[in-house]
Amino acid sequence: LSERLEVPATEVIKKLMMLGVMASISQSVDFDTASLIAEDFGAIVEREIILTDEDILFNDFEDAPEQLEDRSPVVVVMGHVDHGKTSLLDAIRSTNVIETEAGGITQHIGAYRVRVNERKITFLDTPGHEAFTAMRARGAQVTDIAILVVAADDGIMPQTVEAINHAKAANVGIVVAINKIDKEGANPDRIKQELTEHGLIPEDWGGDTICVEISAKKRMNIEDLLEMVLLVADMRDLKANPNRKAKGTVIEAKLDKGRGPVASVLVQNGTLKIGDTVVAGTAFGHIRAMLDDKGKKIKKAGPSVPVEILGLDEVPEGGDEFYVVDDERMAKNVVEKRKQKAKEERIGSHNVVTLDDFFDKVKEGQIKDLNIVIKADVNGSVEAVKQSLEKLSNEEVRVNVIHSGVGAIRESDVMLAYASNAIIVGFNVRPDMGAAASAESQGVDIRLYRVIYTAIEEIEAAMKGMLEPTF
Ligand code: GDP
Repeated sequence: LSERLEVPATEVIKKLMMLGVMASISQSVDFDTASLIAEDFGAIVEREIILTDEDILFNDFEDAPEQLEDRSPVVVVMGHVDHGKTSLLDAIRSTNVIETEAGGITQHIGAYRVRVNERKITFLDTPGHEAFTAMRARGAQVTDIAILVVAADDGIMPQTVEAINHAKAANVGIVVAINKIDKEGANPDRIKQELTEHGLIPEDWGGDTICVEISAKKRMNIEDLLEMVLLVADMRDLKANPNRKAKGTVIEAKLDKGRGPVASVLVQNGTLKIGDTVVAGTAFGHIRAMLDDKGKKIKKAGPSVPVEILGLDEVPEGGDEFYVVDDERMAKNVVEKRKQKAKEERIGSHNVVTLDDFFDKVKEGQIKDLNIVIKADVNGSVEAVKQSLEKLSNEEVRVNVIHSGVGAIRESDVMLAYASNAIIVGFNVRPDMGAAASAESQGVDIRLYRVIYTAIEEIEAAMKGMLEPTF
């Protein structure tokens, strides 16, 4: 700070002391303190913003108010098991699907759109708050409104309360659907009473929670419910800018036998078009084709529209954000870095041992055993290697051969090594393709040798912390 201000450090320290901060010369101070000091010395202070490659690539700027247009609400259905979530989603879909010229059959793409009074609503097709919460846990905020289904013949149950809490935590609007009113014993008033106990005061009781009495099974009042959803949406003033590069969230994704990686995504801002270059989690690709919720091929999709996209190079995860990008090279770079990071996190969390870090882990008291899987070309070498390696055991470290066999190193060997925190030693054998890939991704150390002597020497060195690092 003193260098940047071009004043002696002692002056800065003096000023800090006057502020009650007893700092030494090498100590760092926070931004607020630093700016107070700096202003005292007549400097102008601005917070430095360090842009990462991702920031530059995704360029997630805020839209100017005049660029914003209304968008349709995205709705999730939540509630206790058996209260009628699936029935309600079915009822809505079958009564209000937006017709296409092809008269297409509804496709499952994780979300669908319905038309109500010339307006549209997007429904997430997975009932329950697990999917919703899983997405939120990954930082994705996709829904605007939750329909809370409560069976009128049952009442507020544990999962209803959970759903209420999840919706509140996510700050989404709540519309209550009191379901099964066709049933004998249905008591909507009791439900309303119970709702108040959880902070949801129905409108007719002087609160602001909209409740609609419905029967999903008999398809009663479904239209009313949807109108109320639109009413709540209006209060939320939902907007987006269709005239920018698209971004959104992956709802679900799978590997399709014929079509390759297929992802259902929800566009949250901008417009997604055929040919766009997309980054989704660690997946990258150009949009080759887009299908809507009727399985119809479309060329572009605007805000709040769910689409199935083809053209990614791998399967992203539900909850991954996707961005349309301009700079392909930078995009590949960012994806590569993400993969690396994900790999490190996987390795870090599991802590698979490698020969290189074995000694450190012994010193730290983390491990005492060196677990080894041996694969060799002939049975004779398997036995010879096994015996010589086990003889290396000493007071601090025990060498355990947890598995040995003849033949190439296979994926099952890697899985075993991964699960048992072992390294793999191969004699005159190589890993097959699957094994090499899975060892690479899981961080399992595979050591290949031609002579037994070198293997023993190397492992002995590792046990003493004297192994030459390999690069
Ligand atoms: P979910 O577990 O919340 O998805 O509940 P489901 O939609 O699977 O419904 C559970 C059961 O309640 C099913 O047997 C439905 O037929 C029944 N059900 C759903 N809605 C109604 C309704 O409005 N009236 C009646 N009588 N039964 C309903």
